[in-house]
Amino acid sequence: MRRQRKAKIVATLGPASADQSTIQALFEAGADVFRFNFSHGSHADHQQRYEIVRAVEKAVGRPIAILADLQGPKLRIGQFADGKIELHAGQEFTLDRDTTPGSSQRVCLPHPELFEVIAGGQALLLDDGKVRLEVQSCDGQSIRTRVVNSGTLSDRKGVNVPDAVLPIPALTEKDKRDLKFALELGVDWIALSFVQRPEDVLEARALIGDRASILSKLEKPAALEQLDAIVQVSDAIMVARGDLGVELPPERVPGVQKRILRVCRQHGKPIVIATQMLESMITSPVPTRAEASDVASAIYDGADAVMLSAESASGAYPLPAVSIMDRIITEVERDPLYQNMLDAQHETPLPNRGDAICSALRDVTRIIGAKVTVTYTSSGHTSLRAARERPMAPILSITPKLATARRLALVWGVHSTISEQVHNESEMVTAACQTAFKEGFAKVGDQIAITAGMPFGQPGSTNLLRLAEIWAQ
Ligand code: PGA
Ligand code: MN
Repeated sequence: MRRQRKAKIVATLGPASADQSTIQALFEAGADVFRFNFSHGSHADHQQRYEIVRAVEKAVGRPIAILADLQGPKLRIGQFADGKIELHAGQEFTLDRDTTPGSSQRVCLPHPELFEVIAGGQALLLDDGKVRLEVQSCDGQSIRTRVVNSGTLSDRKGVNVPDAVLPIPALTEKDKRDLKFALELGVDWIALSFVQRPEDVLEARALIGDRASILSKLEKPAALEQLDAIVQVSDAIMVARGDLGVELPPERVPGVQKRILRVCRQHGKPIVIATQMLESMITSPVPTRAEASDVASAIYDGADAVMLSAESASGAYPLPAVSIMDRIITEVERDPLYQNMLDAQHETPLPNRGDAICSALRDVTRIIGAKVTVTYTSSGHTSLRAARERPMAPILSITPKLATARRLALVWGVHSTISEQVHNESEMVTAACQTAFKEGFAKVGDQIAITAGMPFGQPGSTNLLRLAEIWAQ
């Protein structure tokens, strides 16, 4: 079973996609990675989904990546005596440390750290930006604000503070419990929410080790100031346009998305474009033309993956959403303009053997019209560097490690397979040809290009580029 496209689809699982037949159908329709959103659902829910995805993996015979998305330090107000209040533009409203129920004059903000960094002139955004407060003053006990736009505010609504770097740890106590649970389950990727600084990623890395790869969600303006450093210490990046679009004015989101894409492509880090991609499909069987265009633009720009959130987790049309995404991507990749755009953005290889080989792989593939590029990899690094080159032919990645094969499911162009360690060049060529043939990437008489490292099985040794022709199998 092979996909006829290179960019990948991440589908969030939820109540609308909880049973095995739906999850298998989502995979067959095109979902390459399943996201478990730890902001919702119990550990028992996630465990059940985990077991189902692994059962589907077995049934379809393809490695599937599971991405556990930790909630992160999402800030919330406390509760109101009457559950909700009405705020009117121009009135004063205070956030304080008093834990008694709130009124139309005040409410608790149960995050003491915030009182240290909030200052007059800053904005506070409540309920996904629907209510905007302008800070008048903050004295360590209470934040006095003026309401900018009228609206309703109810219990435990989210608070965004776009103007400050928050002195809060990247992982809350809940995140630490969820992380431990997710790692014990055996997920492949951990997504960190509200990453602000490279240290946030390093802190998580110290807990995770090499048990999972780390995807940093960029949804705070503060992260953009250290974008390069955050990308370097992360294994992948998500443009989390939901919270990012609350913290930044909407008109800034497209430019920021393109800037993040560019930096990730330079470093060869997989990048996922997320949130509201096919939003109208939560309730409608067809997307708007603007949504189709948004998905297509992300692909033309060279994204590794596009993501569905509520569309696949709780919407009425999870399967149509994945199918239409699959069709949009396939259509873009058929367009000669797409390859031209990738070529125009081609990144310069770093001066090392691995990059030199991967760059040669791209050239050779184009010159001889190879049908597939085969990468032997242990950690996945060679397949990632080959993907950074965005070669014309798909990347058939061969690894002895199941964990590597699963993680690579997120990466542009990579069709991941598991196979025993090869020991010499002739075994390598034979196995590459057999796999390319068997997986449907090449027919008898087709050319393929292979990269590997000698001595075989030693990570980081990529130094070999070999061309081969498929013989009768
Ligand atoms: P979330 O992240 O769905 O976990 O909030 C995505 C986003 O903010 O866009
Ligand atoms: Mn978010």
